[in-house]
Amino acid sequence: MINNPIVNDFLEQIVDADDLKNIKTIIQALIDGVETDEAIHEQTDIKLNTVRKLLYKLHDASIANYKRNKDPETQWFTYTWRFEKEEYVEEITKFYTERLNKREALLDDLENKLYFVCCMDPEHFKGDYAESSEYEFYCPVCDYELEPYDAKKEKSLLKRRITIDKKNFKKFEEAINKN
Ligand SMILES: [Zn+2]
Repeated sequence: MINNPIVNDFLEQIVDADDLKNIKTIIQALIDGVETDEAIHEQTDIKLNTVRKLLYKLHDASIANYKRNKDPETQWFTYTWRFEKEEYVEEITKFYTERLNKREALLDDLENKLYFVCCMDPEHFKGDYAESSEYEFYCPVCDYELEPYDAKKEKSLLKRRITIDKKNFKKFEEAINKN
């Protein structure tokens, strides 16, 4: 339930790319019931500072939580961490659903609307009929004419991403139900 491209994409919103592997290892440790930063550090060899930093990132994303206890002898605080599976599933599901909806809406638009792009550089401008007519079908950046946009490539790319995402989310759900 951690090794899934959708989970990677979700986690990449929370941490830098260099920390992706570490955060996954830490989530797995929490799932396995390792409860403290020190124990996670010892078991995984990830630097203690990094473990702490990433635990708090998970906490901010509400997929990990901690309890603070005071040691009656030393008066030190200890933190016991717990993985919040329900929240995790909810967050991943939300991330997946929002992305899917956005892609499906975009695909729908590309199939039903005519778009225009700058004939010199599509990066300059891309807009539907109404937006393009505001510029009288001339590029607002370079003044060259706009031409109808050939959406074929973008549509097939979107379709492929949607299909792959659906397949991966199904795998995610299967993994969750197994646990
Ligand atoms: Zn242009």
